[in-house]
Amino acid sequence: MKIVKVSGDVSIKRSVDSGTEEQREAVKKIIADVRRSGDAAVIAYTEKFDLVSLSSLKVKRSEIEDAYEEMNDSLVPIIQEAANNIQSYHAKQQKNSWITTEENGTILGQKVTPLDSVGVYVPGGTAAYPSSVLMNVIPAKVAGVKRIVMVSPPGEDGKLPAGVLVAADIAGVEEIYKVGGAQAIAALAYGTEKIQPVDKITGPGNIYVALAKREVFGDVDIDMIAGPSEITVLADESANADEIAADLLSQAEHDMRASSVLVTTSSVLAEEVQREVTAQLASLPRKEIAQKSIEDFGAIYVASDLQEAIEVVNQLAPEHLEIVTENAMELLGQIRHAGAIFIGRYSSEPVGDYFAGPNHVLPTNGTARFSSPLNVEDFQKKSSIIAYSERALRENGEKIAQFARLEGLEAHARAVETRLKKFTK
Ligand code: NAD
Repeated sequence: MKIVKVSGDVSIKRSVDSGTEEQREAVKKIIADVRRSGDAAVIAYTEKFDLVSLSSLKVKRSEIEDAYEEMNDSLVPIIQEAANNIQSYHAKQQKNSWITTEENGTILGQKVTPLDSVGVYVPGGTAAYPSSVLMNVIPAKVAGVKRIVMVSPPGEDGKLPAGVLVAADIAGVEEIYKVGGAQAIAALAYGTEKIQPVDKITGPGNIYVALAKREVFGDVDIDMIAGPSEITVLADESANADEIAADLLSQAEHDMRASSVLVTTSSVLAEEVQREVTAQLASLPRKEIAQKSIEDFGAIYVASDLQEAIEVVNQLAPEHLEIVTENAMELLGQIRHAGAIFIGRYSSEPVGDYFAGPNHVLPTNGTARFSSPLNVEDFQKKSSIIAYSERALRENGEKIAQFARLEGLEAHARAVETRLKKFTK
Protein backbone atom coordinates (compact mmCIF):
# COMPACT_ATOMS: atom_id res chain seq x y z
CA MET A 1 0.00 0.00 0.00
CA LYS A 2 1.68 3.21 -1.10
CA ILE A 3 2.37 6.07 1.34
CA VAL A 4 1.95 9.56 -0.08
CA LYS A 5 2.75 12.86 1.63
CA VAL A 6 -0.13 15.31 1.20
CA SER A 7 0.73 18.38 -0.81
CA GLY A 8 -2.06 20.47 -2.28
CA ASP A 9 -5.25 18.90 -3.59
CA VAL A 10 -5.70 15.18 -3.23
CA SER A 11 -7.75 12.92 -5.42
CA ILE A 12 -8.02 9.17 -5.22
CA LYS A 13 -8.17 6.79 -8.11
CA ARG A 14 -11.72 5.56 -8.43
CA SER A 15 -13.14 3.06 -10.82
CA VAL A 16 -16.31 4.05 -12.66
CA ASP A 17 -17.73 1.28 -14.81
CA SER A 18 -20.17 2.53 -17.41
CA GLY A 19 -20.09 -0.77 -19.30
CA THR A 20 -18.95 -1.63 -22.81
CA GLU A 21 -20.93 -0.92 -25.97
CA GLU A 22 -21.60 -4.66 -26.18
CA GLN A 23 -23.00 -4.77 -22.63
CA ARG A 24 -25.21 -1.72 -23.23
CA GLU A 25 -26.60 -3.29 -26.42
CA ALA A 26 -27.18 -6.63 -24.64
CA VAL A 27 -29.16 -4.87 -21.90
CA LYS A 28 -31.29 -2.93 -24.42
CA LYS A 29 -32.10 -6.17 -26.22
CA ILE A 30 -33.06 -7.97 -23.00
CA ILE A 31 -35.35 -5.10 -21.97
CA ALA A 32 -37.00 -5.01 -25.42
CA ASP A 33 -37.51 -8.79 -25.36
CA VAL A 34 -39.11 -8.71 -21.90
CA ARG A 35 -41.41 -5.86 -22.98
CA ARG A 36 -42.43 -7.86 -26.04
CA SER A 37 -42.62 -11.41 -24.73
CA GLY A 38 -43.10 -11.01 -20.96
CA ASP A 39 -42.64 -14.11 -18.81
CA ALA A 40 -41.50 -16.25 -21.75
CA ALA A 41 -38.51 -13.92 -22.25
CA VAL A 42 -37.78 -13.78 -18.52
CA ILE A 43 -37.79 -17.58 -18.29
CA ALA A 44 -35.61 -17.93 -21.41
CA TYR A 45 -33.01 -15.44 -20.08
CA THR A 46 -33.00 -17.16 -16.69
CA GLU A 47 -32.22 -20.39 -18.49
CA LYS A 48 -29.44 -18.73 -20.50
CA PHE A 49 -27.69 -16.81 -17.70
CA ASP A 50 -28.58 -18.64 -14.50
CA LEU A 51 -28.53 -22.08 -16.11
CA VAL A 52 -31.83 -23.19 -14.66
CA SER A 53 -35.18 -23.88 -16.26
CA LEU A 54 -38.06 -22.68 -14.09
CA SER A 55 -41.76 -23.18 -14.76
CA SER A 56 -42.74 -20.73 -12.00
CA LEU A 57 -40.71 -17.71 -10.96
CA LYS A 58 -42.63 -16.89 -7.78
CA VAL A 59 -41.19 -18.12 -4.48
CA LYS A 60 -43.67 -20.32 -2.60
CA ARG A 61 -44.32 -20.14 1.15
CA SER A 62 -42.94 -23.68 1.48
CA GLU A 63 -39.58 -22.47 0.10
CA ILE A 64 -39.41 -19.84 2.85
CA GLU A 65 -40.20 -22.44 5.47
CA ASP A 66 -37.46 -24.66 4.04
CA ALA A 67 -35.08 -21.70 4.25
CA TYR A 68 -35.77 -21.33 7.99
CA GLU A 69 -35.07 -25.06 8.40
CA GLU A 70 -31.83 -24.75 6.49
CA MET A 71 -30.53 -21.75 8.48
CA ASN A 72 -28.34 -22.17 11.49
CA ASP A 73 -30.66 -21.58 14.49
CA SER A 74 -28.45 -18.90 15.99
CA LEU A 75 -28.51 -16.79 12.80
CA VAL A 76 -32.27 -16.16 12.60
CA PRO A 77 -32.38 -14.13 15.86
CA ILE A 78 -29.31 -12.16 14.72
CA ILE A 79 -31.06 -11.18 11.46
CA GLN A 80 -34.17 -10.34 13.50
CA GLU A 81 -32.20 -8.12 15.90
CA ALA A 82 -30.46 -6.32 13.02
CA ALA A 83 -33.88 -5.80 11.39
CA ASN A 84 -35.23 -4.32 14.65
CA ASN A 85 -32.28 -1.90 14.87
CA ILE A 86 -32.71 -0.85 11.23
CA GLN A 87 -36.45 -0.43 11.75
CA SER A 88 -36.13 1.80 14.81
CA TYR A 89 -33.39 3.95 13.21
CA HIS A 90 -35.45 4.53 10.06
CA ALA A 91 -38.63 5.20 12.07
CA LYS A 92 -36.86 8.35 13.30
CA GLN A 93 -36.57 9.58 9.70
CA GLN A 94 -40.32 9.53 9.18
CA LYS A 95 -41.64 12.92 8.03
CA ASN A 96 -45.26 13.92 8.61
CA SER A 97 -47.62 15.83 6.38
CA TRP A 98 -48.13 19.41 7.57
CA ILE A 99 -50.66 22.13 7.06
CA THR A 100 -50.73 25.82 8.08
CA THR A 101 -53.54 28.37 8.10
CA GLU A 102 -52.64 31.99 7.55
CA GLU A 103 -54.43 35.00 8.99
CA ASN A 104 -56.36 35.66 5.74
CA GLY A 105 -57.71 32.11 5.73
CA THR A 106 -55.25 30.65 3.22
CA ILE A 107 -54.36 27.03 3.91
CA LEU A 108 -50.98 25.76 2.68
CA GLY A 109 -49.40 22.41 3.33
CA GLN A 110 -47.48 19.38 2.21
CA LYS A 111 -48.98 15.91 1.99
CA VAL A 112 -46.55 12.98 2.34
CA THR A 113 -47.65 9.83 0.48
CA PRO A 114 -45.78 6.53 0.27
CA LEU A 115 -45.06 5.10 -3.18
CA ASP A 116 -47.64 2.46 -4.14
CA SER A 117 -45.08 -0.19 -5.08
CA VAL A 118 -41.33 -0.75 -4.94
CA GLY A 119 -39.09 -3.44 -6.43
CA VAL A 120 -35.94 -4.45 -4.56
CA TYR A 121 -33.10 -6.12 -6.48
CA VAL A 122 -30.96 -8.45 -4.40
CA PRO A 123 -27.78 -9.58 -6.15
CA GLY A 124 -27.15 -13.29 -6.53
CA GLY A 125 -24.16 -14.87 -8.14
CA THR A 126 -21.28 -15.91 -5.96
CA ALA A 127 -22.48 -14.48 -2.65
CA ALA A 128 -25.73 -13.97 -0.72
CA TYR A 129 -26.67 -10.59 0.68
CA PRO A 130 -29.35 -10.79 3.41
CA SER A 131 -28.15 -7.39 4.68
CA SER A 132 -29.05 -5.85 1.30
CA VAL A 133 -32.58 -7.20 1.74
CA LEU A 134 -32.99 -5.54 5.15
CA MET A 135 -31.41 -2.22 4.12
CA ASN A 136 -33.65 -1.80 1.07
CA VAL A 137 -36.91 -3.27 2.31
CA ILE A 138 -37.15 -1.82 5.83
CA PRO A 139 -37.05 1.90 4.87
CA ALA A 140 -39.75 1.19 2.27
CA LYS A 141 -41.88 -0.53 4.92
CA VAL A 142 -41.37 2.34 7.37
CA ALA A 143 -42.35 4.78 4.59
CA GLY A 144 -45.66 2.91 4.26
CA VAL A 145 -45.15 1.27 0.83
CA LYS A 146 -47.88 -1.36 0.52
CA ARG A 147 -46.44 -3.57 -2.23
CA ILE A 148 -42.78 -4.51 -1.99
CA VAL A 149 -41.53 -7.00 -4.57
CA MET A 150 -38.14 -8.66 -4.28
CA VAL A 151 -36.21 -10.18 -7.19
CA SER A 152 -32.98 -12.13 -7.11
CA PRO A 153 -31.36 -14.59 -9.53
CA PRO A 154 -31.74 -18.29 -8.68
CA GLY A 155 -28.83 -20.66 -8.30
CA GLU A 156 -28.47 -23.61 -10.66
CA ASP A 157 -30.60 -25.60 -8.18
CA GLY A 158 -33.47 -23.17 -8.86
CA LYS A 159 -33.36 -21.78 -5.31
CA LEU A 160 -32.57 -18.49 -3.62
CA PRO A 161 -30.12 -18.53 -0.69
CA ALA A 162 -31.77 -19.35 2.65
CA GLY A 163 -30.40 -16.19 4.31
CA VAL A 164 -31.93 -13.99 1.62
CA LEU A 165 -35.36 -15.64 1.96
CA VAL A 166 -35.32 -15.49 5.77
CA ALA A 167 -34.26 -11.81 5.72
CA ALA A 168 -37.05 -11.05 3.22
CA ASP A 169 -39.58 -12.79 5.43
CA ILE A 170 -38.39 -10.98 8.56
CA ALA A 171 -38.52 -7.64 6.70
CA GLY A 172 -42.08 -8.44 5.60
CA VAL A 173 -41.73 -9.04 1.83
CA GLU A 174 -44.70 -10.98 0.48
CA GLU A 175 -43.85 -11.19 -3.21
CA ILE A 176 -40.52 -12.68 -4.32
CA TYR A 177 -39.46 -13.75 -7.81
CA LYS A 178 -36.48 -15.84 -8.86
CA VAL A 179 -35.16 -13.64 -11.59
CA GLY A 180 -32.01 -11.56 -11.90
CA GLY A 181 -30.06 -9.30 -14.23
CA ALA A 182 -31.53 -6.91 -16.79
CA GLN A 183 -34.55 -9.20 -17.29
CA ALA A 184 -35.53 -8.68 -13.64
CA ILE A 185 -35.24 -4.90 -13.93
CA ALA A 186 -37.30 -4.92 -17.15
CA ALA A 187 -39.99 -7.11 -15.55
CA LEU A 188 -40.20 -4.74 -12.55
CA ALA A 189 -40.31 -1.62 -14.74
CA TYR A 190 -42.75 -2.76 -17.40
CA GLY A 191 -44.49 -5.82 -15.93
CA THR A 192 -45.10 -9.26 -17.41
CA GLU A 193 -48.14 -11.56 -17.26
CA LYS A 194 -47.11 -12.72 -13.77
CA ILE A 195 -45.18 -9.73 -12.39
CA GLN A 196 -47.04 -6.44 -11.96
CA PRO A 197 -44.88 -3.36 -12.59
CA VAL A 198 -43.58 -1.18 -9.73
CA ASP A 199 -42.99 2.57 -9.36
CA LYS A 200 -39.40 2.48 -8.12
CA ILE A 201 -36.50 0.01 -8.23
CA THR A 202 -33.75 -0.05 -5.61
CA GLY A 203 -30.82 -2.31 -4.80
CA PRO A 204 -27.31 -3.05 -6.01
CA GLY A 205 -26.21 -5.42 -8.76
CA ASN A 206 -23.57 -6.09 -11.39
CA ILE A 207 -23.02 -4.03 -14.56
CA TYR A 208 -26.05 -5.55 -16.36
CA VAL A 209 -28.31 -4.60 -13.46
CA ALA A 210 -26.82 -1.09 -13.26
CA LEU A 211 -27.17 -0.49 -17.01
CA ALA A 212 -30.75 -1.77 -16.97
CA LYS A 213 -31.65 0.56 -14.08
CA ARG A 214 -30.18 3.47 -16.03
CA GLU A 215 -32.20 2.40 -19.08
CA VAL A 216 -35.61 2.21 -17.33
CA PHE A 217 -35.09 5.39 -15.27
CA GLY A 218 -37.79 7.88 -16.19
CA ASP A 219 -40.42 5.20 -16.73
CA VAL A 220 -39.83 4.26 -13.09
CA ASP A 221 -37.67 5.87 -10.42
CA ILE A 222 -34.42 4.25 -9.25
CA ASP A 223 -32.34 4.73 -6.10
CA MET A 224 -28.85 5.32 -7.50
CA ILE A 225 -26.18 3.64 -9.58
CA ALA A 226 -23.70 2.60 -6.92
CA GLY A 227 -20.00 2.43 -7.75
CA PRO A 228 -17.48 0.17 -6.00
CA SER A 229 -17.39 0.45 -2.22
CA GLU A 230 -14.98 2.84 -0.46
CA ILE A 231 -13.59 3.52 2.97
CA THR A 232 -11.47 6.38 4.25
CA VAL A 233 -10.03 6.13 7.75
CA LEU A 234 -8.92 9.36 9.44
CA ALA A 235 -6.52 8.43 12.23
CA ASP A 236 -3.85 9.96 14.45
CA GLU A 237 -1.05 8.39 16.48
CA SER A 238 -3.56 7.17 19.10
CA ALA A 239 -5.01 4.58 16.68
CA ASN A 240 -4.05 0.88 16.63
CA ALA A 241 -2.46 -0.14 13.33
CA ASP A 242 -3.86 -3.70 13.41
CA GLU A 243 -7.43 -2.40 13.76
CA ILE A 244 -7.02 0.17 10.97
CA ALA A 245 -5.48 -2.42 8.63
CA ALA A 246 -8.32 -4.85 9.34
CA ASP A 247 -10.89 -2.16 8.51
CA LEU A 248 -9.14 -1.22 5.25
CA LEU A 249 -9.07 -4.88 4.24
CA SER A 250 -12.73 -5.36 5.11
CA GLN A 251 -13.50 -2.92 2.32
CA ALA A 252 -10.88 -4.25 -0.08
CA GLU A 253 -12.27 -7.80 0.04
CA HIS A 254 -15.58 -6.59 -1.51
CA ASP A 255 -14.29 -5.97 -4.98
CA MET A 256 -11.03 -5.56 -6.91
CA ARG A 257 -12.21 -2.02 -7.67
CA ALA A 258 -13.02 -1.11 -4.04
CA SER A 259 -10.98 1.71 -2.57
CA SER A 260 -9.41 1.76 0.91
CA VAL A 261 -7.64 4.91 2.05
CA LEU A 262 -5.98 5.97 5.30
CA VAL A 263 -5.45 9.67 6.00
CA THR A 264 -3.22 10.19 9.00
CA THR A 265 -1.15 12.80 10.78
CA SER A 266 1.31 10.13 11.95
CA SER A 267 4.03 8.80 9.67
CA VAL A 268 4.74 6.11 12.29
CA LEU A 269 1.13 4.88 12.06
CA ALA A 270 1.33 5.05 8.25
CA GLU A 271 4.27 2.62 8.20
CA GLU A 272 2.74 0.32 10.82
CA VAL A 273 -0.54 0.11 8.88
CA GLN A 274 1.36 -0.55 5.65
CA ARG A 275 3.12 -3.52 7.33
CA GLU A 276 -0.09 -4.78 8.97
CA VAL A 277 -2.04 -4.74 5.70
CA THR A 278 0.58 -6.97 4.08
CA ALA A 279 0.68 -9.29 7.09
CA GLN A 280 -3.11 -9.63 7.43
CA LEU A 281 -3.66 -10.10 3.71
CA ALA A 282 -1.77 -13.38 3.77
CA SER A 283 -4.48 -15.27 5.66
CA LEU A 284 -7.60 -13.73 4.09
CA PRO A 285 -9.83 -16.16 2.15
CA ARG A 286 -10.54 -13.39 -0.41
CA LYS A 287 -6.85 -12.48 -0.56
CA GLU A 288 -6.65 -12.13 -4.34
CA ILE A 289 -9.51 -9.65 -4.53
CA ALA A 290 -8.32 -7.66 -1.51
CA GLN A 291 -4.71 -7.53 -2.69
CA LYS A 292 -5.61 -6.26 -6.16
CA SER A 293 -7.94 -3.63 -4.66
CA ILE A 294 -5.24 -2.45 -2.23
CA GLU A 295 -2.61 -2.32 -4.99
CA ASP A 296 -4.76 -0.48 -7.52
CA PHE A 297 -7.01 1.71 -5.39
CA GLY A 298 -5.50 1.79 -1.88
CA ALA A 299 -3.42 4.67 -0.47
CA ILE A 300 -2.06 6.07 2.78
CA TYR A 301 -1.91 9.86 2.93
CA VAL A 302 0.26 11.55 5.53
CA ALA A 303 -0.90 15.07 6.36
CA SER A 304 1.13 17.64 8.28
CA ASP A 305 -1.66 18.32 10.78
CA LEU A 306 -5.25 17.41 11.60
CA GLN A 307 -6.69 20.39 9.69
CA GLU A 308 -4.95 19.30 6.51
CA ALA A 309 -6.11 15.70 7.09
CA ILE A 310 -9.73 16.83 7.49
CA GLU A 311 -9.46 18.87 4.29
CA VAL A 312 -8.28 15.72 2.45
CA VAL A 313 -11.27 13.77 3.81
CA ASN A 314 -13.67 16.45 2.58
CA GLN A 315 -12.03 16.40 -0.85
CA LEU A 316 -12.41 12.63 -1.06
CA ALA A 317 -16.08 12.69 0.10
CA PRO A 318 -15.91 8.97 0.93
CA GLU A 319 -18.80 6.53 1.09
CA HIS A 320 -17.66 5.35 4.56
CA LEU A 321 -15.51 7.45 6.89
CA GLU A 322 -14.02 6.17 10.13
CA ILE A 323 -12.58 8.73 12.54
CA VAL A 324 -10.11 7.10 14.90
CA THR A 325 -8.41 10.00 16.66
CA GLU A 326 -8.31 11.33 20.18
CA ASN A 327 -11.56 13.22 20.74
CA ALA A 328 -12.97 11.89 17.45
CA MET A 329 -16.46 13.18 18.23
CA GLU A 330 -15.15 16.75 18.32
CA LEU A 331 -14.12 16.54 14.65
CA LEU A 332 -17.63 15.69 13.48
CA GLY A 333 -18.58 19.32 12.91
CA GLN A 334 -15.74 19.78 10.42
CA ILE A 335 -16.66 16.79 8.23
CA ARG A 336 -18.76 18.11 5.35
CA HIS A 337 -18.81 15.19 2.92
CA ALA A 338 -19.18 11.50 3.83
CA GLY A 339 -21.96 8.93 3.33
CA ALA A 340 -21.67 7.37 6.81
CA ILE A 341 -19.39 8.54 9.61
CA PHE A 342 -18.13 5.93 12.09
CA ILE A 343 -16.71 7.54 15.21
CA GLY A 344 -14.13 5.98 17.51
CA ARG A 345 -12.33 2.65 17.51
CA TYR A 346 -15.37 0.61 18.51
CA SER A 347 -17.32 1.71 15.44
CA SER A 348 -15.64 -0.50 12.85
CA GLU A 349 -17.46 -0.31 9.51
CA PRO A 350 -19.11 -3.77 9.69
CA VAL A 351 -20.99 -2.52 12.78
CA GLY A 352 -22.90 -0.25 10.38
CA ASP A 353 -22.87 -2.63 7.42
CA TYR A 354 -25.00 -5.14 9.25
CA PHE A 355 -26.33 -4.17 12.59
CA ALA A 356 -26.31 -0.69 14.14
CA GLY A 357 -29.38 0.60 12.27
CA PRO A 358 -28.33 3.30 9.75
CA ASN A 359 -28.60 2.35 6.07
CA HIS A 360 -25.61 0.79 4.33
CA VAL A 361 -26.74 1.93 0.87
CA LEU A 362 -24.53 5.01 0.60
CA PRO A 363 -23.31 7.50 -2.00
CA THR A 364 -20.08 6.34 -3.70
CA ASN A 365 -17.62 7.96 -6.12
CA GLY A 366 -17.51 11.30 -4.30
CA THR A 367 -21.29 11.79 -4.67
CA ALA A 368 -21.49 12.28 -0.87
CA ARG A 369 -20.83 15.91 -1.89
CA PHE A 370 -24.49 16.15 -2.90
CA SER A 371 -26.37 13.00 -1.94
CA SER A 372 -27.44 10.99 1.10
CA PRO A 373 -27.80 7.41 2.30
CA LEU A 374 -30.92 5.51 1.22
CA ASN A 375 -33.65 6.66 3.59
CA VAL A 376 -37.38 6.65 4.26
CA GLU A 377 -38.02 9.74 2.13
CA ASP A 378 -36.68 7.86 -0.92
CA PHE A 379 -39.87 5.80 -0.71
CA GLN A 380 -42.27 8.70 -0.31
CA LYS A 381 -43.29 11.67 -2.35
CA LYS A 382 -44.80 14.97 -1.41
CA SER A 383 -47.78 16.86 -2.79
CA SER A 384 -48.22 20.58 -2.16
CA ILE A 385 -51.57 21.72 -0.80
CA ILE A 386 -52.99 25.16 -1.68
CA ALA A 387 -56.41 26.29 -0.48
CA TYR A 388 -56.83 30.04 -1.04
CA SER A 389 -59.62 31.84 0.76
CA GLU A 390 -61.84 34.42 -0.94
CA ARG A 391 -60.07 37.11 1.07
CA ALA A 392 -56.63 35.90 -0.03
CA LEU A 393 -57.63 35.96 -3.71
CA ARG A 394 -59.15 39.43 -3.34
CA GLU A 395 -55.88 40.66 -1.76
CA ASN A 396 -53.48 38.99 -4.20
CA GLY A 397 -55.38 38.23 -7.42
CA GLU A 398 -54.28 41.35 -9.30
CA LYS A 399 -50.61 40.73 -8.44
CA ILE A 400 -50.93 37.17 -9.73
CA ALA A 401 -52.53 38.36 -12.99
CA GLN A 402 -49.71 40.89 -13.49
CA PHE A 403 -47.10 38.18 -12.90
CA ALA A 404 -48.81 35.98 -15.50
CA ARG A 405 -48.76 38.79 -18.09
CA LEU A 406 -45.06 39.33 -17.35
CA GLU A 407 -44.63 35.81 -18.73
CA GLY A 408 -46.95 36.48 -21.66
CA LEU A 409 -49.56 34.03 -20.41
CA GLU A 410 -52.85 35.85 -20.89
CA ALA A 411 -55.08 32.85 -20.14
CA HIS A 412 -53.41 32.51 -16.75
CA ALA A 413 -54.17 36.15 -15.95
CA ARG A 414 -57.78 35.79 -17.07
CA ALA A 415 -58.30 32.66 -14.97
CA VAL A 416 -57.67 34.77 -11.90
CA GLU A 417 -59.48 37.86 -13.19
CA THR A 418 -62.64 35.85 -14.00
CA ARG A 419 -62.97 35.41 -10.25
CA LEU A 420 -61.85 38.92 -9.30
CA LYS A 421 -64.60 40.41 -11.47
CA LYS A 422 -67.23 38.49 -9.53
CA PHE A 423 -65.95 39.93 -6.25
CA THR A 424 -66.60 43.52 -7.37
CA LYS A 425 -70.17 42.79 -8.37
P1 NAD B 1 -26.18 -10.00 -9.91
O1 NAD B 1 -27.42 -10.51 -9.29
O2 NAD B 1 -25.92 -8.57 -9.86
O3 NAD B 1 -26.15 -10.43 -11.45
C1 NAD B 1 -26.46 -11.73 -11.88
C2 NAD B 1 -27.22 -11.61 -13.18
O4 NAD B 1 -26.42 -10.94 -14.16
C3 NAD B 1 -27.59 -12.91 -13.81
O5 NAD B 1 -28.81 -13.37 -13.29
C4 NAD B 1 -27.70 -12.55 -15.28
O6 NAD B 1 -29.03 -12.29 -15.58
C5 NAD B 1 -26.89 -11.31 -15.44
N1 NAD B 1 -25.78 -11.57 -16.35
C6 NAD B 1 -24.65 -12.25 -16.09
N2 NAD B 1 -23.90 -12.34 -17.21
C7 NAD B 1 -24.57 -11.71 -18.21
C8 NAD B 1 -24.32 -11.46 -19.59
N3 NAD B 1 -23.18 -11.89 -20.18
N4 NAD B 1 -25.24 -10.77 -20.30
C9 NAD B 1 -26.37 -10.33 -19.72
N5 NAD B 1 -26.68 -10.54 -18.41
C10 NAD B 1 -25.78 -11.24 -17.67
O7 NAD B 1 -25.00 -10.86 -9.24
P2 NAD B 1 -23.42 -10.77 -9.41
O8 NAD B 1 -23.04 -10.88 -10.83
O9 NAD B 1 -22.85 -11.73 -8.46
O10 NAD B 1 -23.05 -9.31 -8.94
C11 NAD B 1 -23.31 -8.82 -7.68
C12 NAD B 1 -22.86 -7.36 -7.67
O11 NAD B 1 -23.50 -6.66 -6.64
C13 NAD B 1 -21.37 -7.23 -7.44
O12 NAD B 1 -20.87 -6.31 -8.38
C14 NAD B 1 -21.29 -6.70 -6.01
O13 NAD B 1 -20.15 -5.91 -5.79
C15 NAD B 1 -22.54 -5.88 -5.96
N6 NAD B 1 -23.02 -5.64 -4.59
C16 NAD B 1 -23.05 -4.35 -4.16
C17 NAD B 1 -23.52 -4.05 -2.91
C18 NAD B 1 -23.58 -2.61 -2.47
O14 NAD B 1 -24.16 -2.31 -1.44
N7 NAD B 1 -23.06 -1.68 -3.24
C19 NAD B 1 -24.00 -5.05 -2.07
C20 NAD B 1 -23.98 -6.34 -2.53
C21 NAD B 1 -23.51 -6.63 -3.82
